[in-house]
Amino acid sequence: MTEETTRSAIFTSESQTAKLPIVAIVGRPNVGKSSLLNRFLGRREAIVQELPGVTRDRRERVVDWGDRTFLAVDTGGWEARPESSIAEAVRSQAERAIGLADIVLFVVDGKVGITAEDAEASKLILASKKPALLAVNKVDNSGEEADLGSFHRLGLGNPFPVSALHGRRSGDLLDALIAILPETAAQADEDGTVADVAIVGRPNVGKSTLFNRLVGDPRSIVHDSPGTTRDAVDTLIDLEGTSYRFVDTAGLRRRARVDDETEYYSRVRAIEALRRADVALLVIDASAGVVAADQKVATEIIDAGTACIVLLNKWDLATPEERATTEEGLEDMLAFLDWAPMLRVSALTGQRVQRLPDLLTAVLAQYRRRVSTADLVRLLEAAQARHPHPMAGRRRPRVRYATQPRAEPPLFMLFSTHRLMPDYLRYVDRTIRSAYGFKGTPLRMKVQVKAGKPSR
Ligand code: GDP
Repeated sequence: MTEETTRSAIFTSESQTAKLPIVAIVGRPNVGKSSLLNRFLGRREAIVQELPGVTRDRRERVVDWGDRTFLAVDTGGWEARPESSIAEAVRSQAERAIGLADIVLFVVDGKVGITAEDAEASKLILASKKPALLAVNKVDNSGEEADLGSFHRLGLGNPFPVSALHGRRSGDLLDALIAILPETAAQADEDGTVADVAIVGRPNVGKSTLFNRLVGDPRSIVHDSPGTTRDAVDTLIDLEGTSYRFVDTAGLRRRARVDDETEYYSRVRAIEALRRADVALLVIDASAGVVAADQKVATEIIDAGTACIVLLNKWDLATPEERATTEEGLEDMLAFLDWAPMLRVSALTGQRVQRLPDLLTAVLAQYRRRVSTADLVRLLEAAQARHPHPMAGRRRPRVRYATQPRAEPPLFMLFSTHRLMPDYLRYVDRTIRSAYGFKGTPLRMKVQVKAGKPSR
């Protein structure tokens, strides 16, 4: 593969991923999810290094089959941790996959049969009512297909026998996926809105109160529109002349509300909403401090790659000590969101909520911003001259070229002679931010390693 084709393959997929339908691959460790994904891709991929710590162990790849394209997401297997039950371990993986998915591809091991975890996962998949396909992997010959009957017990319909290793019948599985693939998942911005906004946070931090305040403001113009997923209702709100789509607001509007809603479904909803959003309003209860559940929601924002504004809510209620504790918590526990601007508000009294429209405008401008290749290359040359990458053995890795192929969020591709150390990637991230700001948007960074001629 030449360097040129490597580049163009990456660039097209990167620019397309945002609006593609998503097939989430779910299953126990070692059932062959990765091999199946590789089989779908049908080729070896270039090494791509990502900024560490920003995304979790999750593989996303663009798959073309026939005239359709989708994003296959392998959310990783669940870990069997000693302190958590099987049900808990399965649930935490399934909620991510189900939240993201347009279609769930559930993979089990034909050599092992149905395990307790498989049974647990299929219950969750069934309850989600998302379209699902059951693939029975490691079925290497037609003799073994005869034994598939027992897999009907999972309730997910006819099992598809495949062998990811040999490629056996993986084409049939792809045909079946394509047949139920929805049209492009996201809604086009045909309704005059400039951005999709998700209000997220753990239960009781004041999301509904904030939403209803925005809706109730006499300056707001409000109307509903059907969302793209089942039961989702989006609300279009005009804030100071700019129209936003607040996604998946059904739960926030209901009067007698979600106290019956389990933490599990509230997370699935949040992941779904974030997937469609451009910007997240992360609501935190300033009277309660930052807790682990806030951190979890924040991680979903990072994974979704949306812009973000942190709202320290219930400012009216919080005592000075509580306010200080919350602000410290923000620095300690949400340091990975330090690029997000923060606003101290009271959704109840409306205090400072009127600053939100301007902040939204500012943050979205950064999220959509593009830097020219020439400027980037110059910036990185200067940065490397000031602070070269440390020697790695007898070589010194060097970034030779950089470009921003995509915005929303900004993605930077660095073409480097060797792998870069995580610390150096962070240095590059800081350098870009101190030159350009990018306040309120995450930055994605990818390194393409391409060894050049040996230096003389
Ligand atoms: P949600 O679960 O995140 O949607 O939270 P709610 O909007 O239902 O709010 C939970 C509780 O906190 C309700 O009793 C609200 O009245 C209260 N609340 C929400 N925002 C504020 C605020 O800014 N100040 C005060 N004092 N209470 C608030």
